[in-house]
Amino acid sequence: ATVIVAIDGPSGTGKSSTSKAVAAQLGLSYLDTGAQYRAITWWMVTNGIDIDDPSAIAAVAGKPEIISGTDPSAPTITVDGTDVAASIRTQEVTSKVSAVSAVPEVRARITELQRSIAADAENGIVVEGRDIGTTVLPDADLKIFLTASPEARAARRSGELKSTDVQATREALLKRDAADSSRKASPLAKADDAVEVDTSDLTLQQVIECVVTLVEE
Ligand code: C5P
Repeated sequence: ATVIVAIDGPSGTGKSSTSKAVAAQLGLSYLDTGAQYRAITWWMVTNGIDIDDPSAIAAVAGKPEIISGTDPSAPTITVDGTDVAASIRTQEVTSKVSAVSAVPEVRARITELQRSIAADAENGIVVEGRDIGTTVLPDADLKIFLTASPEARAARRSGELKSTDVQATREALLKRDAADSSRKASPLAKADDAVEVDTSDLTLQQVIECVVTLVEE
């Protein structure tokens, strides 16, 4: 039977690493929805769209063609045929993605894409994001909400970015989560029926085992 797993939570909680590993272990597809919002943001920046003008963003939200490869061992993302896997991780895109993803037309477009990818996944899929359990896939078989202390999240993200400025990383991360949590259109939120897992004091391997066990129950 196909199984749909929704994994939501703020940044730096281990969402991506956990989701990929769980999908690989269980033979499921994997979708990084943050990468899709980053990809549409990259396209807006590249095409000179004014990020501070929601109506300008809304007007072109349907233009870029975003394609996600869902193999958990080698996920890919392209925009109009261009591989953007690296360019969506720049500080510029990271600092602008919350403004772009808050625009309802952008969310409607990306949500539709996510639902069709989930429906096409033959064995099932692990979908990670901010609003998967609440909005995108409210009927998911299992919903996980990952949390971690601000300290643990900043330390992890600094490690990933090989940055020594933990303080600046912490501030940028908290600012993005505050923006994602306070927007009107499907904000970052825990679904009522999600299982909350605090990863602050857990190793990645422990989080993976915890989620795999929950899927198999
Ligand atoms: O997961 P990641 O940090 O790559 O997500 C980048 C941004 O994409 C988030 O800060 C948020 O603004 C947006 N996002 C969203 N809804 C999702 C996934 C990501 O709004 N389901």
